[in-house]
Amino acid sequence: VSDPVSDALAQLLEETSSVSGGEVADYIPELANADPDDHGIALVSVLGRTYTAGDASTPFTIQSVSKAFVYALAVDEHGLEVVAERVGFEPSGESYNAISLEEDSGRPANPLINAGAIVTSALVPGDGPAAQRAAVEAGLSAFAGRDLAVNDEVFRSEVETGDRNRALAYLTKWSGALPGEVDDAIEVYVRQCSVMVTAEDLAIMGATLANGGRNPRTGEQVVGEEAAQAALSIMATCGMYDHSGEWMVRVGLPAKSGVGGGIVAAQPAQFGIGVYSPPLDEQGNSVRGVAGLEALSREFRLHLLAHPDEPRSPVESSRSDDDGHVVALRGEIDFIAAEQVVHELETLGADGLTIRLDLSAVTRIRPAAERLLAATAEDLAGSRCTVVADDPSGVVEQRRTARGGVLPTTTGSGR
Ligand code: GLN
Repeated sequence: VSDPVSDALAQLLEETSSVSGGEVADYIPELANADPDDHGIALVSVLGRTYTAGDASTPFTIQSVSKAFVYALAVDEHGLEVVAERVGFEPSGESYNAISLEEDSGRPANPLINAGAIVTSALVPGDGPAAQRAAVEAGLSAFAGRDLAVNDEVFRSEVETGDRNRALAYLTKWSGALPGEVDDAIEVYVRQCSVMVTAEDLAIMGATLANGGRNPRTGEQVVGEEAAQAALSIMATCGMYDHSGEWMVRVGLPAKSGVGGGIVAAQPAQFGIGVYSPPLDEQGNSVRGVAGLEALSREFRLHLLAHPDEPRSPVESSRSDDDGHVVALRGEIDFIAAEQVVHELETLGADGLTIRLDLSAVTRIRPAAERLLAATAEDLAGSRCTVVADDPSGVVEQRRTARGGVLPTTTGSGR
């Protein structure tokens, strides 16, 4: 069965299948076996619906895409501040396996380069590497909503050829960033990179971050909102290695790539996307994956910082009736909508007038907007004008202003 979203994804694959260039990674010998023509994409909405095209269920190793999710697990376990003592936040401007330690603190620059990811893996809860390995596999599986397996050939292949990663781990141990032993951390890290996923898995994992840490398929709260937000933030600034700045300008979505050929991207509160195509560019990012996500972002205006259309007025009508004045609002009330309501109220605010805000067609009030409306009601009370909200569906959450007041309501007492 076709649907408009999958059709758009299929068309995108077709357009980008002609993009050539790049090399399949072979520095981990097992990776060289990947089929360079494999090409798949999947999108999962935060409501859990899935759309796919091409080789969306072909398995490959997650590699560095895992780093963002393991960072979320570590932050969820210890809190951001504890993790921040050992791993930094800044893009390194260097390749993924660079020796990037901050001079004064000895922290790796960020958790998405190998040095930082190895330290992050060592922060996963568990007594010893076997328990930590299990925790990582369980955590990644929870993000994907199914039991993910490890590719033992890739694991062994990378352990055998992983001297550079061991060297990075020794440096972080020497600088004090790495807790525990080098071999233990490497075992957990390499194991995590050898977990098998599909483009569809990556899309669900991305959707889980986009959904505040709750897997939209299983309903499981995998990590808290704060950890999901931290992971998305570091993906936005460091997710594509030395291509992260250009990526943010061209695509404008938090993302993470891996040398297996996978890329995950997410649009907060909307969806996650997974793309798979093994040939890599010089930075180690999938050539067709980058091209596809660039095209997708351009075509559907997905850039998070794109200028939205002019704010529409939330005021549906404003009229006098027997009891005073009714201002009917509609849609979602964010800051810029509330600002327009404040202007309307201040224009109306006269001695003794009662203004009713009809919220029956309001879908949601953002915290800042509610506080702004409540503070305006407080101000107008000073000139003996009463503002009261009719809130039949309970969108008002009774958030307090700086002076301690709440937006007065006649019906519905908040949720
Ligand atoms: N396991 C790989 C490594 O450590 C991951 C690198 C990557 O995907 N960029 O070299």
